[in-house]
Amino acid sequence: MKYVSTRGNSAAVTLAEAIVHGLAPDGGLYVPETMPRLDAEALRGASQTEVGVAVLNAFRGPTDPDASSAIERAFRDEVRLARLDDTTQLLELYWGASAAFKDYGAQFLGVYLPQCHRAVHPQGGRVTVMVATSGDTGGAVAAAFWRKRDVDVFVLYPHGRVSPRQEHQLCAWGENVQAIAVNGSFDECQALVKAAFSDPYWTEGRFLTSANSINIGRLLPQVVYYAWASLQHATPPSFIIPTGNLGNALACIWARELGFPIGEVVLATNANPTLQQYYDTGEYSGRASIATLANAMDVGAPSNMERVAHLYPTHAAFKSALHVVSTDDDTIAAMIAIAAQTMGRVLDPHTACAMHARASLHDADGHWIVVATAHPAKFETIVEPLVGAEVPLPPALAETLNRATANVRIEPTLDALRLVQPPS
Ligand SMILES: *Cc1c(COP(=O)(O)O)cnc(C)c1O
Repeated sequence: MKYVSTRGNSAAVTLAEAIVHGLAPDGGLYVPETMPRLDAEALRGASQTEVGVAVLNAFRGPTDPDASSAIERAFRDEVRLARLDDTTQLLELYWGASAAFKDYGAQFLGVYLPQCHRAVHPQGGRVTVMVATSGDTGGAVAAAFWRKRDVDVFVLYPHGRVSPRQEHQLCAWGENVQAIAVNGSFDECQALVKAAFSDPYWTEGRFLTSANSINIGRLLPQVVYYAWASLQHATPPSFIIPTGNLGNALACIWARELGFPIGEVVLATNANPTLQQYYDTGEYSGRASIATLANAMDVGAPSNMERVAHLYPTHAAFKSALHVVSTDDDTIAAMIAIAAQTMGRVLDPHTACAMHARASLHDADGHWIVVATAHPAKFETIVEPLVGAEVPLPPALAETLNRATANVRIEPTLDALRLVQPPS
């Protein structure tokens, strides 16, 4: 099994190399050279970990490290499938360390990335993970790499522009994880990380990686929960997925391509119009994002569109494989209130987009799985006033929010970043 770039101008590499590189040298994203196939029916009744090992084995080549310990770590916090009504279930992806689906990719990479690094660079050396976060990704990455041997982590976030709970999740680690509050915007944090990647101070004598969401190592463990969930029902279920950068939805598409029994795949977006416009008109134009209540989906130019277009290169192919349903902020708020009243279910703003899409497809036949990407307690300032009640914290998040916090604060310059002490 080899991986090639979506732009077609990079040499084929192993999975371990694709994970270590992150981005392909030609600027494209790594995809499998040919999509593997799996005997899905043989996995009915298998546990999440067993499905996970089978899926990762299908994507692995003979020289790539064994992925079972990484899968076991990622699925230690199992995903849950809850019944909503006769035709609809909720796939709860929020029982992990940061209470959002990004934990699965991050936890997997926390174990598998160091293994891939040792396979690709037998001379060894420490790994430095540096990420810029607008709030959510950083918490998942910090939790996943905390206390990993020979790994240093720097998480940069815009001071004063993340929620208090998000900040706590970024700063609750210590030891090998250093949280850095930057006096600037998220874009300045991102520019600073990018600059560090061409600064010899950061690149010489250590292995620097961003472990970011375009890394194929984040995607593959996400394929696993769709594969597992598809087998929990006698007929092929359809999935509705809250979508921003298209990573989580792409994982579902890949699960279907692998041979798992999946019907329709619906992309539920917020008011950012790029995907809806492409679906409706065939015209694709990436643009600046607009702010919405579902802020982890505030994306104007979805980074994984390149991988989706590699699989479905024409508008006709895209339309026959996927649907898009968008939701504005008023509808998100209304949906959160309605779901609490009629189903006794408290939804976060991202999941509310998917629930609205489910409601708008009420005539559609078959069995539907609405994907819940975050626990509502992560977005309590939006959710609690709408449902008129306090939202209890899930155990893993409660544990994190009980920890002491520490950070350093810097100006958005390379000189200031260099002075940050490596974590101990
Ligand atoms: C990141 C995120 C999304 C969007 O996922 P993509 O893979 O970027 O499409 C949706 N909901 C929540 C809660 C997220 O954190």
